[in-house]
Amino acid sequence: MLELDQLVMDFGGFRAVDRCSFRVEAGTITGLIGPNGAGKTTLFNLIAGAFPPVSGSIRFLGEEVTGLSSDALFHKGLVRTFQIPHEFHRLTALENLMMVPPAQPGESLFANWLSWGRVRAAEAKVERLAWEALEFLELTHVAHERAGNLSGGQKKLLELGRTMMTDARLVLLDEPAAGVNRTLLRKLEDKIRILNEERGYTFILIEHDMEMIQKLCAPVICMAEGKVLIEGDFQTVRADPRVLEAYLGE
Ligand code: ADP
Repeated sequence: MLELDQLVMDFGGFRAVDRCSFRVEAGTITGLIGPNGAGKTTLFNLIAGAFPPVSGSIRFLGEEVTGLSSDALFHKGLVRTFQIPHEFHRLTALENLMMVPPAQPGESLFANWLSWGRVRAAEAKVERLAWEALEFLELTHVAHERAGNLSGGQKKLLELGRTMMTDARLVLLDEPAAGVNRTLLRKLEDKIRILNEERGYTFILIEHDMEMIQKLCAPVICMAEGKVLIEGDFQTVRADPRVLEAYLGE
């Protein structure tokens, strides 16, 4: 599904991502771990098209996508969420989800005047989809609550819901567990697993919560100082002395 080849990213004279290469197979949940400053978020930004790499290439679904914008990648089914949720805090949870599908007919002033019926029909379809996502995430009771008033965990679930409003193929989750209480965390794990197994989403997730990594992720990739240190199953990666050393040096 995704193939990174010798990716490099510099900030000024500092090399944040240093010749990173790995493949992500369709249908997997890949865990990306490593100490702070290892380059994980920068790598996500490269994959999601936030900025182009200095060198190296990215292939997505067999197609060269290096340098494509995040918008273009979104249309191809590559979706990311953020460590700090990016909700529209004054809109309700339902409205936040309804915003996601691109190119809705209601966005056109022209269509609103001349094809009002078509606009309403499209909106009703998007609204149905949003309710389905809210039901799946067990958030229907806060559907009409402003997103800014939701708890940290509910916002994380809402972020996951945004991916359900698209034809997502590959979802990049940036620290889904951060700021989420234990009860919601278990729910979040279940939802990620169901989206993977039943909807066929492929995930890459950056996470510091090792319990979540252990439960959900295979393979696990550990980065340090911009490089891929090791890739393997959770036990192998955890037992590798280089991984321990990288964390100790944090
Ligand atoms: P991680 O997500 O693994 O904690 P990051 O990708 O956030 O690591 O950061 C890797 C390194 O790149 C860090 O040393 C960080 O300070 C640096 N860095 C990240 N983004 C920028 C930026 N926009 N400008 C300058 N340095 C950056």
